[in-house]
Amino acid sequence: MRGVKKGNLPEKICPVCGRSFRWRKKWERDWESVVYCSARCRKEARSG
Ligand SMILES: [Zn+2]
Repeated sequence: MRGVKKGNLPEKICPVCGRSFRWRKKWERDWESVVYCSARCRKEARSG
């Protein structure tokens, strides 16, 4: 696992829309388990 640079928020790529998204305050507790950029993409991944 790569280290996170100071000053840069962690970033992930959403497998549904392919866009990168950054750490948000609301994810501070479960950032590790966050896979999709939004609830919408999560829903789409399930149904799609
Ligand atoms: Zn997405």
